[in-house]
Amino acid sequence: MAWKRTYICEQCGYKAEVYEGKGLFGQHITPMTCPECHTIQNIVVGGVIGDVAPSYSTETGRLCLRCGSDKIRVWNLYTCPRCAGEMRVTDEKEFWT
Ligand SMILES: [Zn+2]
Ligand SMILES: [Zn+2]
Repeated sequence: MAWKRTYICEQCGYKAEVYEGKGLFGQHITPMTCPECHTIQNIVVGGVIGDVAPSYSTETGRLCLRCGSDKIRVWNLYTCPRCAGEMRVTDEKEFWT
């Protein structure tokens, strides 16, 4: 079972979606933060795609989906990439596969 949750920054209103658990193909989605374009990017890791393309099986060496930066790192579920404020989980919760 896997849920998608929405996080929101209390200071600037920036929203991020976080996928928990694993999807249909055994993949998981890691939220990573980009210091260059100040966004959170959901990076698909592992699963069937990881078997075909080994570079997809870890978070290492992945690029920002928006600006192509290689400086992205795993988000701590807390710090807003835009204003460095505090992000909080909302009540929004959706099922994903
Ligand atoms: Zn913010
Ligand atoms: Zn970026």
